[in-house]
Amino acid sequence: MKLAAMPQPLTPSLVNELAQQAGFSLAGIAPVPPLDSATTSEERARFDEWIAAGAAGEMEYLKRRNDSGELVRSTLHAVFPWVKSVVVCAANYNTDQPRSIDPAPEGSGWISRYAWSEDRTTSPPRPSDYHKVLLKRLRSLEAALHEHAGPFESRCYVDTGPLVERVYARYAGIGWTAKNCTILNQQLGSLFFLSVILTSLEPESPLPQLAADRCGSCTRCIDACPTQALTPYQMDATRCISYLTIEKRGEIPEDLRTGIGRNVFGCDICQDVCPWNEKSLRTAPPADDPELAARAALVNPALDWLSAMTPDDFAQWFYGSPIKRAKYEGFRRNLAIAMGNSGRADSLPHLEEWSRDDDPVLRETAAWAIGRIGAK
Ligand code: SF4
Ligand code: SF4
Repeated sequence: MKLAAMPQPLTPSLVNELAQQAGFSLAGIAPVPPLDSATTSEERARFDEWIAAGAAGEMEYLKRRNDSGELVRSTLHAVFPWVKSVVVCAANYNTDQPRSIDPAPEGSGWISRYAWSEDRTTSPPRPSDYHKVLLKRLRSLEAALHEHAGPFESRCYVDTGPLVERVYARYAGIGWTAKNCTILNQQLGSLFFLSVILTSLEPESPLPQLAADRCGSCTRCIDACPTQALTPYQMDATRCISYLTIEKRGEIPEDLRTGIGRNVFGCDICQDVCPWNEKSLRTAPPADDPELAARAALVNPALDWLSAMTPDDFAQWFYGSPIKRAKYEGFRRNLAIAMGNSGRADSLPHLEEWSRDDDPVLRETAAWAIGRIGAK
């Protein structure tokens, strides 16, 4: 007769070991501070202020409120009264590929490196979305945790949970909150995905030490941000290229278009200039994840190639990829801005065609881009 294994306490080292077996680079476990604690009040106040200042732009999912009018993402207790801890997992995506700030072929755009991925475990490889890849790994980790700790309540989330993942990543000892608002880890840098499992388990001591802030007097990310979206430890998402090129619908404010440069989906600049990411490229092995491998065609992609895509090409190329989030209309709008910023006369015939398109946003943006090329 097989004896049932005794439940084991979930120590940070056990969580990390099981997470690595499930395909993550690193993991930790964070206690959820009690509802009436000073920490909870501070985090809530910070998030509430950020929302009240309009910094979330059109990202309505961040502004969702429960029946009592509380912001759902400002405290976990509002949604899951049972939650006691958060397992935070990091998956490195810093592949051995050029950075957005490296010299690039003329007329190339930039797609944020987290969105490049393809799954090479299938034949032929197909576009992959980290949300799906990591959710599968989280479920496998969740099952392993249940096997070790016995029955408990749990929920897995990749970007969709009622919490700000970065806050718990810090409590779980994954890294410190950096001036560019990412979580920085001394070995991995900041180019990793975060995903979480909420649990009803009390985390076992000793909990990891909070990582010390090692940004020091550096301000490289703030100085490099082309749209001045950053102040130390604060980001105005409404000025951030990632928000503008992915989440924002309709026209992009004209005063921010020049700063968008050649970015057509997301922006990596404030991470690419960070000395900790430079260091991690030199000292840590690059990410080598077959389900999240870099798709060569999307690294420094030619703007002419992207702009020639029909709706069918777009659907085919980006089926199952995060790039779909920008939608075909948004992607063409972003391309028009990048072509205008490239200043290349070669783009004029295409932009002129777009300036007569049925889509009024594309028409206006293409006209702006034509003017910009003319001015250059
Ligand atoms: S992602 Fe780009 S635009 Fe956004 S804060 Fe960083 S550098 Fe600025
Ligand atoms: S660039 Fe400098 S200030 Fe910005 S996150 Fe990196 S270390 Fe911190």
